[in-house]
Amino acid sequence: MRSHAQAVVIGGGVIGCSILYHLTKAGWTDVVLLERSELTSGSTWHAAANMHGLHDVTNISRLQHYTMNLYKELEAETGQSCGVFQPGSLYLAQTENRVHQLRLQKAKARRYGMNFHEVGRDEAERLHPLVNFDGVRCIMFEPDGGNVDPSGVTNAYAIGARQSGAEIHRFTPVTGTEPQPNGSWIVRTDKGDIRTPWIVNAAGLWAREVAALAGVELPLIPTEHQYFVTETIPEISAMNRRLPSVADRDGEYYLRQEGKGLLVGAYERDMRFWAENGTPQDFGHELFADDLERIEDNMMRAIDRVPAVGTAGIKRVINGPMIWSPDSSALFGPVPELQGYFCCCGIIPGFSQNGGLGRLSAEWIITGEPTLDLFGWDLARYGSWAGKAFTKARVADQYAHRFKIHYPNEERTAGRPVRTRPAYERQKELGAVFGLNYGWEHPLWFRAEGEPDVETYGFTRQNWWEPVGREARMLRDRAGIIDISNFAKYVARGPGAETWLNTIFANRMPREVGRSCLTPLIGVRGGIAGDFTVTKMAEDEFWVIGSGMAERFHQRFFNAVPLPDDTTFLSRTEGVCGFNVAGPLSRQILQSLSNDDFSPNGFCFMRSKPVEIAGVTVGALRVSFTGDLGWELHCHTRDQLRLYDALIEAGRAVGAGPVGSRALMSLRLEKGYGSWGREYSPEWWPQESNLERLINLDKDFLNKSACTSTLSKPAREKMAIFEIEVEEADASGGEPIFLPDGTPAGQVTSGAYGYHVEKSLALGYVRADVATPGRVFDVAILGRPHRATLLEQPPFDRDGSRLRG
Ligand SMILES: Cc1cc2nc3c(=O)[nH]c(=O)nc-3n(C[C@H](O)[C@H](O)[C@H](O)COP(=O)(O)OP(=O)(O)OC[C@H]3O[C@@H](n4cnc5c(N)ncnc54)[C@H](O)[C@@H]3O)c2cc1C
Repeated sequence: MRSHAQAVVIGGGVIGCSILYHLTKAGWTDVVLLERSELTSGSTWHAAANMHGLHDVTNISRLQHYTMNLYKELEAETGQSCGVFQPGSLYLAQTENRVHQLRLQKAKARRYGMNFHEVGRDEAERLHPLVNFDGVRCIMFEPDGGNVDPSGVTNAYAIGARQSGAEIHRFTPVTGTEPQPNGSWIVRTDKGDIRTPWIVNAAGLWAREVAALAGVELPLIPTEHQYFVTETIPEISAMNRRLPSVADRDGEYYLRQEGKGLLVGAYERDMRFWAENGTPQDFGHELFADDLERIEDNMMRAIDRVPAVGTAGIKRVINGPMIWSPDSSALFGPVPELQGYFCCCGIIPGFSQNGGLGRLSAEWIITGEPTLDLFGWDLARYGSWAGKAFTKARVADQYAHRFKIHYPNEERTAGRPVRTRPAYERQKELGAVFGLNYGWEHPLWFRAEGEPDVETYGFTRQNWWEPVGREARMLRDRAGIIDISNFAKYVARGPGAETWLNTIFANRMPREVGRSCLTPLIGVRGGIAGDFTVTKMAEDEFWVIGSGMAERFHQRFFNAVPLPDDTTFLSRTEGVCGFNVAGPLSRQILQSLSNDDFSPNGFCFMRSKPVEIAGVTVGALRVSFTGDLGWELHCHTRDQLRLYDALIEAGRAVGAGPVGSRALMSLRLEKGYGSWGREYSPEWWPQESNLERLINLDKDFLNKSACTSTLSKPAREKMAIFEIEVEEADASGGEPIFLPDGTPAGQVTSGAYGYHVEKSLALGYVRADVATPGRVFDVAILGRPHRATLLEQPPFDRDGSRLRG
């Protein structure tokens, strides 16, 4: 066994082997994989191994397609069969919302040239004569869908990696991972130690135990999962072709041909956890006892749809463990608190995703950043707040609703509340309907007396659409008070604070006390890794405000530059709360509560100062994400309720009141403001996101050379704002944009109704050559084309008089 390697992958399931293979493909051949038993000894060996290309999230579809196309190449390269069957997949919609979901997925697939199209009942019956299509409103066909052989795929990756020089050691459990002072690791096994700069935790069912060796707690928990295989079905025996698989998600089961019978699997409501407190080290190739009663409802729906399932006997039942994250997406990426420790864990559709995950892991480890924005998979989306109770509640919810449609703006209630702030109860009294943001409860909107306290969800406008409009109009007409405590807040303090911030951020830090600046943070490949407001509060004290949900994500960048002596940079997100008081009467409200000067000349746009409001010491910044006249007020968390009560009362006197984050999203769209994770992501270059003007090339900053290189290239796409002609729904993000002749042109990143400007709006990116004002496009809302016009300017406050007034 080597004593040194460029990377050590722990776990020889399909994911670990794919990562090893992709590392070698990307040029790292001095790599080792350690497996405690045989390869495939976790969830991999007993998987049904179905694969699908389509997903609600376009980047995930792209990865799944990469995976599905790789299998044949892998077979050719290694000579190892992957047991690939691609008879296609039929997707059935029984409800109107499922029709919307499938049609939207179809439109997304078209943008990337993926094959997914609607078929009529006759065609569907020809493709799958055993299915009864009664009650099905829409049928989509994915010709590349199918299934693979789990062991074949895992071994093919292993062979490919070995051929390129990787070492694989089976029956070699990792017993310790120890960080060294130089930032590298020692990986301990009974057969010897390996020194390496990179550990990759791909230990699947044992990912928690392997992470714990490095002191890391991963929010994961295993469940049981069952499928069964029928005896031979004569109609299938008589066929000389293979039947497509059936994705009947409204029926909550999956079904495909296996041998000359059918395989049916289900995610039942009455789910079971397994090994909650730790996966046993001696768990081998065991399965759990069958419990078909638990999946009886799902089975009955499968029998209704495919009667042959009910007449054939059951040949075999598989009940095995799989391990879940709280949102069922991968826990992917480097652990921000450790150097050189990468995770790729909690993968549910491993046979649709292994290739893409392997490729992106290799990109991230070797180049420092993956080529696709995958914040939804990044393990940094969870912090220590995602503890055991939260994880358990969310996993139960995810498992039981595996095939549920996830609607735009959906908030799951399971496991909440996790973290609340002092104003929470008062906000409840005021009618707040809450959402979850990085563990915090925050008000989405406020219901009036008699309005329902539970949101409805769907692709069309829902029961919160009117109340949100009421808040947005109130703010534009008078004023509103928005809780912005979930923004991430940091304080840089000390003699080296300004220099350090200048070496992190792309813009020049304010030199004068009381000044603020907006600044991008540049990613490894020159894209937008973050957008921040930095304020010089005192000679050696700066406040930095950024995206709350990205706090742990951004830590990776802040870690990249050592702090100068006597200088600190600390998160104040928990200790500091904030309100945005905005709208034409916001000045009047604040002035009524303070002796400080809020007049136009006394408190100018983009300035800041400490003030006292209703007896509370507040750091006030004259900025507002609403695009209106407004202030951000930041106070100590213990003062939040006192400040809130005072603001609400003073607001009430002028007809103003609380406003939630849904209205804020609509208001910022009217002004065309981008938001991190939507418009701003490492995939976009500054000149594409209209942030080029905030880059100061006269100084050095993190990833400057990558930034200079991207800036020297022409924009591929441009961020733009669109007005959409649509009546019953608004864009929400992710909808593809086409030219009127059907040519793909781009994608929506955010959408909402602009209640003040009375337009349905969207921000998005379209090809630079067609990003011209007045140009007309089609946006696929509800999966159907809707006419959208690219606006020359955002519709609200074109001359900036409101913002700067
Ligand atoms: C019943 C069932 C049906 C499924 N059907 C499908 C399906 O149809 N389609 C689909 O895409 N997915 C399916 N899955 C999910 C799929 O199995 C997983 O996504 C996939 O196998 C995860 O692979 P992995 O490599 O991450 O983990 P695992 O397969 O769990 O592999 C982890 C490996 O790490 C090793 N290991 C652990 N600890 C150590 C250590 N300390 N040192 C060294 N090695 C260690 C283990 O021995 C194991 O081999 C199904 C799962 C189940 C249970």
